[in-house]
Amino acid sequence: MDRRRFLATSTFAALGATTGLRFSPVMAQDGSPMGVAAARSFPIGGATVTALSDGFLPITPEALIGVTPEEFASLLEAAHLPGEAHPTGVNAYLVEAGGTRVLIDTGTGTAMGPGLGQLAANMAALGIDPASIETIVATHLHPDHVGGALTDAGNPFSKAGLKVHAADLDFWTGGEVRKQAPAEAQGFFDIAENAVAGFGERVETFEDGADLGHGMTAMHLPGHTVGHSGVMLESEGDALLIWGDIVHVPPVQFAMPEVTIGFDTDQPQAAATRAALLDQVATDGTRVAGMHIGFPGIGWVEKRSEGYGFTPAPFPYG
Ligand SMILES: [Zn+2]
Repeated sequence: MDRRRFLATSTFAALGATTGLRFSPVMAQDGSPMGVAAARSFPIGGATVTALSDGFLPITPEALIGVTPEEFASLLEAAHLPGEAHPTGVNAYLVEAGGTRVLIDTGTGTAMGPGLGQLAANMAALGIDPASIETIVATHLHPDHVGGALTDAGNPFSKAGLKVHAADLDFWTGGEVRKQAPAEAQGFFDIAENAVAGFGERVETFEDGADLGHGMTAMHLPGHTVGHSGVMLESEGDALLIWGDIVHVPPVQFAMPEVTIGFDTDQPQAAATRAALLDQVATDGTRVAGMHIGFPGIGWVEKRSEGYGFTPAPFPYG
């Protein structure tokens, strides 16, 4: 038994001991305690959007700006979560439309720890060959969005083109910004540069409002990064806005949209973008999908007396 499985099994055993329950953890056929593939498909008009989980990342209040540890704990408690760290989901979305496959973000690959990096296995469980993806649209070039394009064997999306906002490509791979960046940020630039390099000549940039093909339009949502962008998918009168990183800790940032995260390149801009977009989608009823909303991360935003709430889309049985 490897160390990771041992730790997971020990945690289950400890939980059983403290609660008096006796049970065995559910295991997938490969022996992993994480269960079966986390992938779920939703029809959007004539297109199909499949939410793919890459796993999760615990986020503690220290990573956020504008919320006290007490407020963080009480918002998590109100969401029926333990208060120490929020298990933030990391999702990507496969869009199948017009006979092609477009993957919005790629998850982390091996870039970020053992709770993550499950996107490839979830795609494989669906029988989706990464070489069958025509286009990767990166909402931005952070490791949890493009890390999946980096493996020891090279870029698994061997035939795909990469589309990314021009400002993000320049910021992360242009070479100038990283010269001013602190040592601890250099790894972010390395991952962005290496992930982009894996696409060779097949890299295209876009601007706000660009037609990304197959009913998809780019929506520049700056702040989290300079070129951070969502993807609006429209098909046969139906629509879904895949909004990237508009929220990172949903129980906190829906209630308090002014709360930012240390990874934001421009925190005031990120907060302003979030406030404007939450107001817009709550007003016009646009269905949204979020890379860091709990899997599958698709649903609707509503105004509350203070801040906003999120109602998940009905689970697509069958
Ligand atoms: Zn992210």
